[in-house]
This record gives sequence, structure tokens and C-alpha cells, in this order.
Amino acid sequence: MAPLMKKVLIANRGEIAVRVARTLREMGIGSVAVYSEPDHQSLHVRVCDEAYPIGPAAAAESYLVGERLFEVAKRAGCDGVHPGYGFLSENAAFAEACEQRGLRFIGPPASAMRAMGLKTAARERMAAAGVPIVPGGNANTAEEALETAERIGYPVMLKATAGGGGKGMRLVHRPDELTAALERAQSEALKAFGDPTVYLEKAIIRPRHVEIQVLADGQGHAIFLGERDCSMQRRHQKVVEEAPAPGITPELRAQIGKVCVEACLRIGYRGAGTFEFLYQDGRFYFIEMNTRIQVEHPVTELITGVDLIREQLLIAGGEPLSIRQQDIELRGHAIECRINAEDPDSFMPSPGLIQHYHAAGGPGVRMDTHIYEGYRVPPNYDSMIGKLIVHGATREQAIARMRVALSELVVDGIKTNIPLQQRILADGGFAQGGQNIHYLEKKLAERREKALSVL
Ligand code: ADP
Repeated sequence: MAPLMKKVLIANRGEIAVRVARTLREMGIGSVAVYSEPDHQSLHVRVCDEAYPIGPAAAAESYLVGERLFEVAKRAGCDGVHPGYGFLSENAAFAEACEQRGLRFIGPPASAMRAMGLKTAARERMAAAGVPIVPGGNANTAEEALETAERIGYPVMLKATAGGGGKGMRLVHRPDELTAALERAQSEALKAFGDPTVYLEKAIIRPRHVEIQVLADGQGHAIFLGERDCSMQRRHQKVVEEAPAPGITPELRAQIGKVCVEACLRIGYRGAGTFEFLYQDGRFYFIEMNTRIQVEHPVTELITGVDLIREQLLIAGGEPLSIRQQDIELRGHAIECRINAEDPDSFMPSPGLIQHYHAAGGPGVRMDTHIYEGYRVPPNYDSMIGKLIVHGATREQAIARMRVALSELVVDGIKTNIPLQQRILADGGFAQGGQNIHYLEKKLAERREKALSVL
């Protein structure tokens, strides 16, 4: 078969750039890396066929500058762009600019990104497509916020319309707290996203975070690839993810999966995507759709045997989906631990030189990373330096396997959250499964109190 694209520019850095490069090379497609000054020694630069500098450390002057990326694409003769996650991956204008320059954007059409980009618009679209959403409404003024909160009932969550990364979210328990919280949320949203608009959702008190992975070809076919449980969170950021989600019955899975597939077809979705839900008492509440590949995609790959990056490339190349829903069979259990360069207790970033690195190995063990011995973790980006992922026949085996893998993994010279991951994997509540999104924070608070009482 002739290659779908000849050469793809990877508009990203870190582990996802390495991950994408691997599949490109496997498929016989050329891989082109871009790198900022401090990233010149990153593994993604080495694994790609070609690599080009795009500017200084600040992402706003390198990875986020479309024109720089297009210059490289032209020089290298690329015909496709993979945006990874973060950076420009959910930027509809960038997707359009790629297409205008004859570069295939490996992601959904700009229109679908726009439809899902603003949370309020996404909620409306989803509700119209029959997806269950969290009750909510507008909060443009203090009066409107009070009215909406009264209607949906307290406690409520203020959320930034243009939000992402857990920023600008505020829990409000009572009407007398709402006006001040609204002002703070608006100014936070303006600072983080350049848009002060916030809206209200009913706060779901003890939910789990369960999300559905989909693939759609934009030619009338869409499938779902089971779900992931990402309830182990700190500050609304995922720490451990797993698939399948403990306790989700095949019936419930089929039901919510079908809703997502139908929504994909209704909105003309194309590519890989994720529907994120809060899940409580057997009910799903849609919170947002991510129109890109996600950090935690490997757990789905391990239980389905599907290479999601490969599917993204095939779809972007105009191929119809070759996998049918009945081909998707969930096998065993997979867990992912995010490995961060940070102090495991204070969570302060810990960049610096990696003096010693030893990857974990063995059956069912996968490490997605861009680090190696002698690599310097730059202080300029997200603290995630890799992901340790395991697959086992059962959840119990996956946990045991992850515990062994974490004990083998060595990253010396900087501080990492490996000790935190070890504590989570050794925790009785985690072993039980199905904990809610507050569980990890609660455990961390208990630990802090204990430490104080010892002093
Ligand atoms: P972001 O795009 O900023 O990550 P999300 O809408 O995806 O925001 O929400 C991130 C996390 O915030 C969720 O996983 C959950 O922990 C919490 N959250 C969001 N909305 C609600 C809500 N209505 N009630 C309770 N928790 C919520």
C-alpha cells in the first residue's frame, strides 16, 4: 500500500512526540521533529528522521508559533501535521491554517473543534445529541448566576467556558458566597484563557471521572473503544488512569458507548476523541469532549490492541475505519502512572539533569518517555517526564505488575513522584477500585496531618 502521507511534522515535544514518531516510522511515513532551544537533546529529536529548531524555550515563541512550524513543514517537504496533545492540538485556527497550506491536520475538522472548544457550546451540542449533561446554565452576571444556582440547586461549580487543565474552577456551597466567587472565577478565567466567561454546573459531590474513547472516520463510521477511569486526581489533574473502569457493567458500557458514537455521527466528528463524564450512582454526566489524542490513551491501546496513533493517521489520510465495533474486545486490565519531575510531597517542580535512568521492563510493561541518562529536564514545560503503563490479565495482576515496575524504575538526579505512585498502588482503597475524584486529595491531607502530629 502506498503511504498515506509522505512526511509528518510533529508539532509537539516530550513523550507524545516520541510516541507519534514511533508509529510514523513503523508505517513508513517520514517523521519531522521540531524543538525549542532547551529541547535540543530530547529523545524526540533523536528518534525522528529530521529535526529543526523553532526558537527559544518559551512555548509562546516556539511550539505555539504556527508560522515557525509552517516554515519547517515547507523546508522539510511535509504533507501532514500531528499536533499531539496540549499546545496547538485543540486550536481550530491552526488546523485550518494547516489545511490552507496543503498540510493534513491529523485531528478533527476545525468546525468540530470549534463546536467542542467552548464548554457551554459543547454542552448544548451534546444535550441535543442525546448525551446526558450535568445540569447547569449561564452565569454572566451576579443576578444570572444566583438565578441559575437556585434553579439547579447548591452546591454549584463555577467553570470557565474556555477552560482546560482544571483552571478557573470554583466550588460554591451557598448563595452568599456566589457573587465574590463569580468575580474571582471571572478574573482567573481571563488570566488563564483570555476570556472571562464562566458558567455554572451543579457540583456532583462524589463522582468518578470516567471517559469514553472514540474513533470516527467522517464517512459515516464511528466506534468506541471502552472507557477509562481517571478518578485519581490532584487539583483536577489526573495522576493514575486505568481501563476498564472498575464496576462498569458491559450493559452500561454499551449504553454510554452507543450514545457517544451517535453523538460523533451527529456532529460530523472525524479522528480520535474522548467524551469525559462524571459518573455517580450508575449515571453519567457529560463534562467535556477532548478533540485530540489524550495522555492516557495507552491504557486503551493495551486492552484493545489498537494503535490509536495509527488509526488517527489512517483517518487523516482519508481511509474509512477498518475496525468495526464487534472487533473491539476488551482484554485484561491496564494501568498508567504519570511520572512527573516534582517533589512527591510538596509537588514543587524538580527540573535538572538525569544522572541515572533505568526503565522498568518485563511482560506487559510499557514506558512512554523522552528522557534518558544524561538528559536535562528543562524548567519551561509541564513536569510530566513520562508514563509507566502496565497490562495484566486482571486488575489485581495489573496492580502487582505496576508495583514491581515502579520498584524497578530509576530516575536519579531530580525528584520524581515515583514514591507517591508507589503509595497509591499500595493503598487498600485503590486496590478496592472505584474511588471518587476526591480520594487522592483526602489521602494526601490525612498524610499531611499525620506528619504534623509527629513533629
Ligand atoms: P478541565 O477542562 O479544566 O480539565 P473538566 O470539565 O474536564 O475541566 O473537569 C476537570 C475535573 O474537575 C473533573 O475531572 C472533576 O474532577 C472536576 N469537575 C468538573 N466539573 C465538575 C462538577 N460539575 N462537579 C464536580 N466536579 C467537577
